[in-house]
Amino acid sequence: SASILDIPGATPMMAQYIEIKAANTDCLLFYRMGDFYELFFEDAEIASRALGIVLTKRGKHGGADIPMCGVPVERSDDYLSRLIALGHRVAVCAQTEDPAEAKKRGPKSVVRREVVRLVTPGTITEDRLLDPSRASILLALGRRKHSEAGYAYGIAAVDISTGRFSLSEVPEGELGAAIARHDPREIVLSEAIHSDPALAGLWRDLKAPVTPLAQAELEPASAERRIKQQFGVSTLEGFGQFGRAELAAAGAALLYIERTQIGARPALSPPTRETSGATLAIDAATRANLELTRTLSGERTGSLLDAIDRTVSAIGARLLAEHLAGPLTDLPAITRRHEAVSFLVENGSLRRTLRDTLARAPDIARGLSRLGLGRGGPRDLAALRDGLDAAMTISESCGQVRALPDDLAGIVQRLGTVDADLVEHLRAALADDLPLNLRDGGFVRAGYDSEIDEARLLGQDSRKVIAGLQARYAEETGCRTLRIKHNNMLGYYIEVPQAIGETCLKGVMRETFIHRQTMVDAMRFSSVELHDLESRISGASDRALALETEVFDALTARILAQAETIAAIADALACLDVTASHAELAVERDWRRPFVDDSFSFVVEGGRHPVVESALRRSGEPFIANDCDLSGEGRGRIRLITGPNMGGKSTFLRQNALIAVLAQMGAFVPATRVHLGVVDRLFSRVGAADDLARGQSTFMVEMVETAAILNQASRHSLVILDEIGRGTATFDGLSIAWACLEHLHEHNGCRALFATHFHELTALSQRLTRLDNATLKVAEHRGEVVFLHEVVPGVAERSYGLQVARLAGLPAAVIARAGSILKNLEKAERDRPTRPRIDDLPLFASLAPPPLPEVQAPPREDHLRQALDLVDPDTLTPREALEVLYTLKKAA
Ligand code: ADP
Repeated sequence: SASILDIPGATPMMAQYIEIKAANTDCLLFYRMGDFYELFFEDAEIASRALGIVLTKRGKHGGADIPMCGVPVERSDDYLSRLIALGHRVAVCAQTEDPAEAKKRGPKSVVRREVVRLVTPGTITEDRLLDPSRASILLALGRRKHSEAGYAYGIAAVDISTGRFSLSEVPEGELGAAIARHDPREIVLSEAIHSDPALAGLWRDLKAPVTPLAQAELEPASAERRIKQQFGVSTLEGFGQFGRAELAAAGAALLYIERTQIGARPALSPPTRETSGATLAIDAATRANLELTRTLSGERTGSLLDAIDRTVSAIGARLLAEHLAGPLTDLPAITRRHEAVSFLVENGSLRRTLRDTLARAPDIARGLSRLGLGRGGPRDLAALRDGLDAAMTISESCGQVRALPDDLAGIVQRLGTVDADLVEHLRAALADDLPLNLRDGGFVRAGYDSEIDEARLLGQDSRKVIAGLQARYAEETGCRTLRIKHNNMLGYYIEVPQAIGETCLKGVMRETFIHRQTMVDAMRFSSVELHDLESRISGASDRALALETEVFDALTARILAQAETIAAIADALACLDVTASHAELAVERDWRRPFVDDSFSFVVEGGRHPVVESALRRSGEPFIANDCDLSGEGRGRIRLITGPNMGGKSTFLRQNALIAVLAQMGAFVPATRVHLGVVDRLFSRVGAADDLARGQSTFMVEMVETAAILNQASRHSLVILDEIGRGTATFDGLSIAWACLEHLHEHNGCRALFATHFHELTALSQRLTRLDNATLKVAEHRGEVVFLHEVVPGVAERSYGLQVARLAGLPAAVIARAGSILKNLEKAERDRPTRPRIDDLPLFASLAPPPLPEVQAPPREDHLRQALDLVDPDTLTPREALEVLYTLKKAA
C-alpha cells in the first residue's frame, strides 16, 4: 500500500502529523491532542493490538479512513511501560505553544507540536517504567581493527536512571559474554558492526532491541565533541586511558542519549574503566543454562539471584544482580569481599542494625538522576533526604566499630562524606505529605519560607470569605440549599435549584447574580464579588506555586552541585546492602566462607544446589549434599559422570558451577568447605534434548557452543558438559562426546564435569590419566528403583530407563513389552562374537581421528560428503554457516 507520506491533500493537522512521523519512522508517535495522546495509521493498529485498546477512525486521508486510537495523558505512563516492555520505541509529541497563540495566526492554523522525547527501553528514568531491582543498561559498541584476523570491541554501558557509565574493551571472541554480562535493555551500534556477518548470531539470541546508527554520525571527531560536551572538558587528555574503540562506543552512547532525551542532558558519572579479564567470563548460553539471573523460561523466581537475594533496598538489589552477572577474577578483591561478609556474619547485631537502616533508605541513585534530567519531583528530594540521612546514621553507628575489614571501612568512610547541612535543609523545607508532581504544589513545609506562608494564608482566607459569602447569599435568597462550587469550566459559581433560580433572576438578586448556566434541575450564577475572590485565590496560589518552585530549584541545584559525591554514597549504600545480604543468607542457610586462591584447586565438600535445595525444603524433603574434587593433577581433573536419568547428574553439575560463581562474586557458598583456584571462564553446555525451546537445528547449536568451549577453555577454566552428543544418532554422538572429552583432557587441561549416558566412555579413564569416573548411587527395592542422589566413585551399572519410565506413568503393558524387547537386545549384544573394545583405539592426541567402533574409518572424501549431508543450509544462520565452512576446511 502507498505510504501515508506520499498522499497529497492532507488537512493541516494531518500534514503536521505526517511531517513529524516522517522524522520518526522507527517509533510509535504519541501525538498530543488535548488530554489525549493519539496514534494514527499503522501506529494505531500496532498500539491497539499491543495495549488492547479500541481502534477507531478519525477523518479520511487519501480517501481512506484514518485508523486511530488514543491514551489519556494522565495515564500514559502505564501504556508507555507496556509498549517499552514489548520492545517498542515511542516518540512523545507535545503541544509546544498555547492553543490561543495558534488561533491568533488564523482560524485554520494548527498548534505547534514537537517531539520532546523518545522513550526507548534503554533510556527511561521514571520509577513507574523501571524495574527497581534491575539496572537499566543502554549498551553502545564501537570497534577498531585489532589484527588481520579481527576487531577489538569497545563497550559503553550506561544506566541513565542512575548515571553510571563504564567503558571496556574486549577481543571479538569475548564480545558475546561481555554483552550477556551487562544484560542490556537496548543496544546501539554502527551499521557496519550491525551488518558484520561474523556477529549475526549475537543479535539473534538477544532479547534486547538492537538499533544501528548511521556511520556518518559516528566519526571520531563527533564522538570526541560529544564526550567533551557531556563531561565539560576541553580536551580528552583525562580520558587517555581509554582506547579508540572505547571512545567510539562512548560517542555512540552519547549520540543516542542526545537523540532520545532531546535537550535534557543526564548527569552521567565520568566513565570508569573495566579491564578485560577482571570478571569471570560467562557466555550467554551458560548464563541461561545455569539460570543465574532468570530461569530458562525468563522469570526471576527460581533463578540463583532470587534464591540468594536478601537485600533490603532497590540499589542493593541492583548491585547484587550486577555482582552475580560479573563475578570477579581478581584474588585480592574477592578476598576483601569475603572478609567483609565474614565480619557481618560474626557481628549479628551490627548486621541487623545496618539492615534496618538500609531498609529505610530510598533509591537515591534514581532520584538523583531524575533531578539531573529536570524530571524530578518533590518525592525525589525526600528520597535524597532520607537516603542521605540513612547514610549519616550508618556512618555514625559504625564510627565506633573497631577493626572493620577494608571494604567496610571504605564504605563507612564514603558514607561519612554526606553534607549534613544539605540534609538539614531538606528536612526543614519539605512537608510531611508530598505530591508526586511539582505543579501540584504544597510540598514546602509551613514556616520554612514566610512569603510562601503569606501567599497560602491569602488563599485560605479567601476560602473562608467564600464560605461567608455562601451563607450571606443563602440568607438573601432564602434558599438554604444554595452552594458555591468550583469546576474547571466555570471556576467558582453559585448553584441553586431551578425554581429558585428563576425567582432570583426576577427578584432581589437581579442586580447581583449573573446567569451562567441552566441545568436540568439547577441554575448556576456568578457575581462580581465571587469573581474578585476567585482572582485573589488563583493569584495567591499561583504566587505560592512560583515561590515553591524557586525553593525546589534551589534545593535541586544544591544537590546537583554534589552529584558525584552523592552517587558515590549511593554506591556505598548498595555495597553495604549486598555485603549484609550475603551475611544474612550465610547465617540463615549455614553457608560457609570459601577459600579462594590462584591454584587449580576445586574442592567442594558437602555441596548443595541453592535453588533445588530451597525447592525441596519447601516440600519437606532433604537435599543430599555431595563432594566434588577436580583439583587432582593426578586423578580427577575431569570427572565423567554416568547414572540413570533423574539420579541427580544435572543438579550436581550445576551446583558446582554455581558454587564457583558465588565464591567469586564474594558470597559465601552452600557447602561445608570449598577450596577454589580462581576460574577465568565458565562454560556450560546442556544436551540438545533438554533444550527444545531453542527450536530448529538444536544439534547445530549444541555443536557451535561445544566448539566455543573447546576453542576457548584454558587451564584456569571450569567446564560443565551435560549429555553432549545426545542430539544425534548414537554412534555419531558417542564419537563426538569421546573426541570432546579427549580434547578437554589433552589440550584444554581445564577442570571439567562431564555427564553422559554413553557408558562406553567410562573405559577411557584407564588411558586418560586425569579422568575419573563417578556415578549417582541407586538402590533397588523389590524391582522399584530408589534414587539416593549420592555421588560416588565408579560407573553406573545400568541406566534404569524402564524403571524411570514406569515412575513417569508409562502404561504397564508398554513397560512389560519394553522389558522383553530389552532382554532380547541385551542377549544379542552379548552373543556377538567380536565386540569392539574402546581401549583398542588410539588416543586423540596421536592426531588420527579415532576410528568408530563397528565401522571402518571412511576415506577422506566420503568423510567430507557425510559431513556435508548433515548440513541443512536453510536452517543455518550466516554465522553457523561460516563455522561449518571452517570445520569442513579443517577436516579436508
Ligand atoms: P539427571 O540429570 O540425572 O536426570 P536431575 O539432576 O535432573 O537428574 O535431578 C532429578 C531430580 O532429583 C531433581 O529434580 C531433584 O528433585 C532430585 N535431586 C537431584 N539431586 C538431588 C540431591 N542431591 N538431593 C536430593 N534430591 C536431588
